[in-house]
Amino acid sequence: MLNKFDAATLRLTAWYLGVLMVIALIFSIALYQVSSRELVDSLRQQVGIISRRVEPFVRGKVVDLATFQEEAIRQAEGELRARLLLGNLIILITGGIASYWFARRTLTPIENAVESQGRFTADASHELRTPLTAMRTEIEVALRDKKLSLKDAKELLGSNLEEIGKLETLSESLLRLARYDEGRAATDFTKVPLEPLITKTVSRLQAKAKVHGVTLVTDIAALTIEGDAGSLRELLHILLENAIKYSPDGGKVRLTAAKEGGQAVIAIKDQGIGIKASDVPHIFERFYRADNSRAKTHIDGYGLGLSIAKSIVDMHKGALTVSSTPGKGSTFTISLPISSRSFKS
Ligand code: ADP
Repeated sequence: MLNKFDAATLRLTAWYLGVLMVIALIFSIALYQVSSRELVDSLRQQVGIISRRVEPFVRGKVVDLATFQEEAIRQAEGELRARLLLGNLIILITGGIASYWFARRTLTPIENAVESQGRFTADASHELRTPLTAMRTEIEVALRDKKLSLKDAKELLGSNLEEIGKLETLSESLLRLARYDEGRAATDFTKVPLEPLITKTVSRLQAKAKVHGVTLVTDIAALTIEGDAGSLRELLHILLENAIKYSPDGGKVRLTAAKEGGQAVIAIKDQGIGIKASDVPHIFERFYRADNSRAKTHIDGYGLGLSIAKSIVDMHKGALTVSSTPGKGSTFTISLPISSRSFKS
């Protein structure tokens, strides 16, 4: 059974091939008309010359040059038709192969996008269902408990609130991801001085760093870039929060911002758990969480932060890279064009 993309590929192949064959046939008919006319004219001319040359020698004898001429024309036209037919057959076969190749090339990115959208929806539904299931179970157990005290009920409500908080965080992340993917914030680009923006984001995270026993250090050059201040703040927040989250007690997170070429380069270096080389290619994928952040250490998160960060960097036509050594730490580096005039198209 063909899936819908195989069927679409075949339909598109048929369309490409149909258009190609119509053009080839129109071209062949025109070529046949012109060539056969020229062929007939040139044969008639040649027969005329021959008949004039042979006339003095064959005077009085019957030489059937007209029949000879007709036969020669028929033969030449037959050969022309056979060649054009062969040509069209070759176009049909090679065109068929080429059309299929082009149809695949056209549809593969769409197929991949639809597949990843499907995966994303399945992952999002799963993540949304988990806190809902937890809440339902707690409430059902509580309702069945005939001796439920006020203290127990308050505990239950507290736990439910926690789950609601998780749902809010998740739905906000999903909405932000959709917003950045659409590039809606890109229309709000203004000149953004980086130093106050970074300082504000760092100071907002100081309390969290303190709880984790992590020290934040900065070294920021005076730089102004063209971008969307709100999303840039969010980008730094995500990377700094991750650096804190994945650092051990007593760790240090260092943020540097400097101009390199026409780019503003911001590096966030931590001394945390690091990322395995096999996880590095996937960490920017939606809902991807490396093993180290899942079961063993129970570090909270949905695996959406880095995909949001990547969307923000893409919206600014920049680059986001990571280098990491497990057990030693990671460095996330953001490169952003300083002016929109230097933006890649
Ligand atoms: P989350 O932190 O919510 O799991 P992210 O998208 O922000 O999701 O990160 C994806 C994964 O990348 C994380 O689960 C973690 O395994 C890894 N990761 C991100 N930042 C760091 C870091 N600074 N140190 C170690 N691992 C990290």
